[in-house]
Amino acid sequence: MVVVCLLAIGLTGQETWNNRAADVHASSQQTTNLAQSLSQQATDSFQTVDGVLGELVDRAETDGSQPRALRRLQKVMSEHVKQLRVLHNLFIVDAGGNGLVNALPQLKNANYRDRPYFIFHRTHAGQTTHIGRTVRSRTDGSWIITVTRRLNRADGSFAGLAMATISGDYFLHLYNQVDIERSGIITLALADGTILVRKPFEQANIGKSIAKAPFFRSALPQTAAGSYENRSVVDGISRFYAYHRVSRYPLLIVVGVAEDEVLAAWRWETLLSLVELVGMISIVAILGGYLVRQIKKRETAEALLERLVLVDGLTGLGNRHQFEAVLGREWRRAVRAGTSLAFLMIDADEFKGYNDRYGHQAGDNVLKSIAGCISGALGRPADLAARYGGEEFAVFLPDTSSPGAFAVGEAIRRAVVALNIAHVGSPHGIVTVSIGVGRVSPNPNGSTSPSALVKAADSALYQAKSKGRNQTEPAATFIPTLAGVISEYVSEPV
Ligand code: GH3
Ligand code: MG
Ligand code: MG
Repeated sequence: MVVVCLLAIGLTGQETWNNRAADVHASSQQTTNLAQSLSQQATDSFQTVDGVLGELVDRAETDGSQPRALRRLQKVMSEHVKQLRVLHNLFIVDAGGNGLVNALPQLKNANYRDRPYFIFHRTHAGQTTHIGRTVRSRTDGSWIITVTRRLNRADGSFAGLAMATISGDYFLHLYNQVDIERSGIITLALADGTILVRKPFEQANIGKSIAKAPFFRSALPQTAAGSYENRSVVDGISRFYAYHRVSRYPLLIVVGVAEDEVLAAWRWETLLSLVELVGMISIVAILGGYLVRQIKKRETAEALLERLVLVDGLTGLGNRHQFEAVLGREWRRAVRAGTSLAFLMIDADEFKGYNDRYGHQAGDNVLKSIAGCISGALGRPADLAARYGGEEFAVFLPDTSSPGAFAVGEAIRRAVVALNIAHVGSPHGIVTVSIGVGRVSPNPNGSTSPSALVKAADSALYQAKSKGRNQTEPAATFIPTLAGVISEYVSEPV
């Protein structure tokens, strides 16, 4: 029962674990694919913007900042913003941080001297494209990502910058169309971990850093893409994440699905299989318990039956049935082993008189006491006493010499005398027994027999009775066999 239950628990546990691993794997594959696609999309978007910026830088540097040149530039910029959804606006900013022109003429130009990207280009001579943190637009107040390039004068000195702005909504709109459950997230971040856009949108998360997430220091420096399981550093929800670097630009895409949502179906299945398991174990326990009780009952019944069949109810010694069985068994054993078998026949003296005087119940008690004396005198494990019938007992003493058997008989007789139970009707005044001792070395050619052994002991008992009772009498003629005689006088001298 226990093994079956443990097996069931083990198998269910293993299956449950495998199912979880499969669900996690499937989800990780989905998020990995999604992160890769979104990373590609980000590359495309920024590359488009970068291309436009390159053209603006070229025109601004060659045409200069005369009003005519700026008007022409404005036309080109306005055309780009109309054509490309990714573009929110385009700007040309002079060396003092003043906006000279932007693509939307209705918007007034502002000053950008204090913006980090302005400071960056003023202090870095390179032509690299710079992607700034998400900021609020000074022209229309929306959340924008700035992409900038430095403008140089002919002598290489700082002339200002060309700037493209991408509305945060552009990415957010796209990310909102992706179905990643209620608590799923998509983040576009700068390579340093600064969040540019995050679905779901929350103003407070803009500009926060995910650099504290464990993958940032362990996995990201080595691999451009990967997946991991973690508690979000932004909102504290446990998720399965996949990240992917955006190629060409210092950007990063992170996609995450909530563990609770990935494992919801699995948890439900697990609960069901747990209920099934408990049900099954209960059934096994109930049926098994019933079975065990039945088996125990049967065992008890069998033990009782065995006792009833073999044991004498009054004295607790073997009964007549056992006597017959043991006689046959010990006889065959003695034949096989070439050993002898001694046998005592014990009879209570004047017992009819005892019953008549003291009553049957008292007689029964005396029989019990005599049985106790017999058991007490037997020392070897192979010795066996049985109630032969009425007030007669039989004792088997396998592999025992004649003097040995006689000594056992005497011990029994003396023990009964020592009981000192008054028996007025007996010539000795107390309860006594008479004992006949028989002994034989059984032999396989059939010249000896079990019944002859019993008969010999019985005759000896008769002798003891006629000699005055309360005595032990060896059989006058032991059933002689050559082997018996030799073994008696050679291996077991008196
Ligand atoms: P002896 O000394 O010659 O053996 O005389 P005895 O009276 O013992 O012999 P007998 O065979 O004439 O009587 C046996 C008596 O044993 C008969 C019966 O009263 C008594 N007896 C036999 N079985 C039981 C028993 O189970 N309980 C009791 N209380 N007495 C029994
Ligand atoms: Mg008798
Ligand atoms: Mg008797």
